[in-house]
Amino acid sequence: MDDCIFCKMSQKKIPSRIAYEDSSLFAFYDVHPQAPIHILITPKKHIARIYDLHPPEGLVLSEMIFLANQLAKENKIDKNGYRLVINCNPEGGQTVYHIHLHLLGGRDMKWPPG
Ligand code: 5GP
Ligand code: ZN
Repeated sequence: MDDCIFCKMSQKKIPSRIAYEDSSLFAFYDVHPQAPIHILITPKKHIARIYDLHPPEGLVLSEMIFLANQLAKENKIDKNGYRLVINCNPEGGQTVYHIHLHLLGGRDMKWPPG
């Protein structure tokens, strides 16, 4: 997608702080972190929403989760814990329409708090 910010980031057309990259995945640090560790894990292939994910593409979701686990370990949040989030559509909180898995940790993520 020509006007997709996350496609442009994985294609290095705009800069990002890269956490991981291989032939199918691209992970980078969120520009407005909601936790001390906040990484976005994306497929390089443009898929707009989790709702658009169909069985032939389903494998990429498990690849994204395995990578999140690996990055949690590398960032030393695996033992204390972390949260994985995928937002879908406006009321789901999605603002960028290229599937991304949020990896959040480094603080108490319990919600609602208290
Ligand atoms: P969503 O709300 O769609 O689930 O998450 C989009 C995320 O992308 C937000 O947390 C937002 O801070 C992040 N984001 C938006 N634009 C950029 C950008 O240009 N660079 C980086 N690193 N993150 C971005
Ligand atoms: Zn895209």
